[in-house]
Amino acid sequence: MQTKAFGNNGPQVSAIGQGTWYLDRGDRKAAVAALKRGIDAGMTHIDTAEMYGDAELVIADAIAGRRDEVFLVSKVLPSNASRRGTITACERSLKRLKTDRLDCYLLHWRGTYPLEDTVAAFDELIAAGKIRSWGVSNFDVEDLDELLDVAGEDKIACNQVLYHLQERAIEHAVIPWCAQHGVAVVAYSPFGHNDFPSASSKAGAVLQSIAQAHKATPRQVALSFLTRAPSVLTIPKASSAEHAAENAAAGDLKLSAGEIDALDQAFARGPKPRSLPML
Ligand code: NAP
Repeated sequence: MQTKAFGNNGPQVSAIGQGTWYLDRGDRKAAVAALKRGIDAGMTHIDTAEMYGDAELVIADAIAGRRDEVFLVSKVLPSNASRRGTITACERSLKRLKTDRLDCYLLHWRGTYPLEDTVAAFDELIAAGKIRSWGVSNFDVEDLDELLDVAGEDKIACNQVLYHLQERAIEHAVIPWCAQHGVAVVAYSPFGHNDFPSASSKAGAVLQSIAQAHKATPRQVALSFLTRAPSVLTIPKASSAEHAAENAAAGDLKLSAGEIDALDQAFARGPKPRSLPML
């Protein structure tokens, strides 16, 4: 599994990690087995949020006895992101995850509390040893500029944003901004949530033929394409061990420049939208 630095001076983290949104909705045992298989296969970066129902409880079962192997990320809801609310939300997540610290804690999206208050809470949590680093999610460059003014350089570990073959808006400005400031980009919904390109579409056929050339699957090619830039990691969600194993194997798949060009043409980036798309 390829690893990448999680922010300036940050630790090395698996380029392909594991998302957990809706992971609590189906068979819990299968979900725990999927996460465990993913960890075994090197997908040690695990993403969750207080918003994801019981996902934190599912993760607690999957990481029991192996907390040190994983890079654990959770998120505070904007409606809780006051100075005091951020701290109590983090403490609730730690309890549900049955751990004493998060490796990174994110503001899920920008809300109405001043960034100064949320950042002050993040700093307090770091000082208390409850989080190792902090970042944000769904921040466009204007929000990132403001955040940088509040926090200063080398403080923002990551920005988690929507990125898949059919939604490449972050390539215009967010990825360059993050690369310039040493902020890791974590691509969420890398399979389009529930809208992965079908092999019968023109672009899907390109994906399929590249996959065949590598004896890989279209989803593995997609994950490799999305993480082609040095600062980009991704967190597909899988509820079965088979899916997790397939996704993890993408961490070693290297596409040629020609294949990257072909995908770039097939799945057009499109113009820069007025606001950053999010789910
Ligand atoms: P996703 O990862 O793009 O797609 C998940 C779908 O792909 C599920 O239906 C899953 O099915 C399927 N899948 C996964 N691996 C597969 C495989 N190898 N073969 C066939 N199907 C496969 O969607 P997502 O859950 O929206 O995004 C990933 C994670 O990003 C989330 O879980 C969450 O942690 C994070 N996220 C963050 C935000 C944010 O605002 N920060 C927003 C959205 C998502 P099975 O479940 O049946 O395996």
